[in-house]
Amino acid sequence: GGRSYSFMLRTKNPSGKVSNQLYLAMDDLADQFGIGTLRLTTRQTFQLHGVIKQDLKTVMSTIIRNMGSTLGACGDLNRNVLAPAAPFVRKDYVFAQQTADNIAALLTPQSGFYYDMWVDGEQFMTAEPPEVVKARNDNTHGTNFPDSAEPIYGTQFLPRKFKIAVTVPTDNSVDLFTNDIGVVVVSDDNGEPQGFNIYVGGGMGRTHRMETTFPRLAEPIGYVPKEDILYAVKAIVVTQRENGRRDDRRYSRLKYLLDSWGIEKFRSVTEQYYGKKFEPTRELPEWEFKSHLGWHETGDGLLFCGLHVDSGRVKGITKKTLREIIEKYSLNVRITPNQNIVLCDIRRSWKRPITVALAQGGLLPPTYVDPLNITAMACPALPLCPLAITEAERGIPDLLKRVRGVFEKVGLSYNESVVIRVTGCPNGCARPYMAELGLVGDGPNSYQIWLGGTPAQTSLARTFKNKVKIQDLEKVFEPLFYHWRLDRKAKESFGDFTNRMGFEKLEEIVDKWT
Ligand code: SF4
Repeated sequence: GGRSYSFMLRTKNPSGKVSNQLYLAMDDLADQFGIGTLRLTTRQTFQLHGVIKQDLKTVMSTIIRNMGSTLGACGDLNRNVLAPAAPFVRKDYVFAQQTADNIAALLTPQSGFYYDMWVDGEQFMTAEPPEVVKARNDNTHGTNFPDSAEPIYGTQFLPRKFKIAVTVPTDNSVDLFTNDIGVVVVSDDNGEPQGFNIYVGGGMGRTHRMETTFPRLAEPIGYVPKEDILYAVKAIVVTQRENGRRDDRRYSRLKYLLDSWGIEKFRSVTEQYYGKKFEPTRELPEWEFKSHLGWHETGDGLLFCGLHVDSGRVKGITKKTLREIIEKYSLNVRITPNQNIVLCDIRRSWKRPITVALAQGGLLPPTYVDPLNITAMACPALPLCPLAITEAERGIPDLLKRVRGVFEKVGLSYNESVVIRVTGCPNGCARPYMAELGLVGDGPNSYQIWLGGTPAQTSLARTFKNKVKIQDLEKVFEPLFYHWRLDRKAKESFGDFTNRMGFEKLEEIVDKWT
């Protein structure tokens, strides 16, 4: 008896790493306590919807027993730390993932408050590397609250949630520039990691009709040698802790502090906590979007296989197929920042039977999804998110079909790709402001259209049109895609094309279209 409530739980998995045991536990929990589906999030975590209140303790203790902490998954503190999900054994990839683990540990609340609240009496312990403990407790430059249970957060925690991503040069699978802190491993000519370029002040969230709220790209603050990374990250977090706005949540993300101070002032204040100067950022090659889908070699004789999951929703036959394979071969998995899943630790001799099993489940990589879907993302929106104004996850299959229809009509080939992202409100959980075509719900039946992001997620989109009725989207898509096909330069992406043409010209084109 009693009333039931619905909850949303998020796990914490730096680099999206999910042990075999945790995957199987989450899969069971989704059936027993959830709505029978598992959701992979854009921060490489699981989300479990629809948990009933009296079961919450069981759910939490099951997750923790299976080593997927929910610490830091919500609230005004550091969220899950992103890193490329691909289990390559290359030194820089391994180092990026280790660094993500260390940063996550550094910024995990110490008091166990979140943990105690849900599972009293059970101890949750992970062995922390000594350098993490040392960096957390170091108060050399007045960064700590020495008598507090939370040396870094104090009693007030941070003004808002805080997001960090770590990656290697060229691999922008993590949407680096949308994070409060972006960290990139810099290696020497022998591939040996030496230090990090650091970028600060990215963020997506905004509020409709408030020009003072905006998405922002992270910008370079400098380079640090590898042994200093935890101190540099801590100094940035502490600068935000001390100076970020706490009077209005709409302006409390780090990006607004960067916007009001400028990078020079922000750097010099941070350097006081860091106790050193940042070195100039090192030059890096061009960024690329890496999906890590399909079959790949890890580099040590094993294979991994990335599988696309529509909107990260693992359900039905997909859920059953994944479970069978993951259980049978005891595979560990990883969640990608694009809400997809990577099956790891695959021996060569398993490739054939796994391929057969995937094919039987309709998951034969990578040809089973429309290329438009490979880079597309949508947030949960209706009916799950209380902030949603418009459909996103439920609406995106139909939207992609309609874009595909327009592609056919204007003569664009099947393999052309455009990054499409849809969210149900301006909060921007699926990072629509980095898309080449971003749709942001701005009315019960309408979207704001954003253009100008690029395939590698290196530039910010801008608002192109407001309040476009869902049934009228073709009136905008058709002229834009038609002219892209007609007027593009060789291999020019849709994002580069819209930026080169300029919005004024594009509006003229759209207005004239009948
Ligand atoms: Fe909810 Fe808005 Fe985030 Fe979508 S973008 S999940 S509607 S808060």
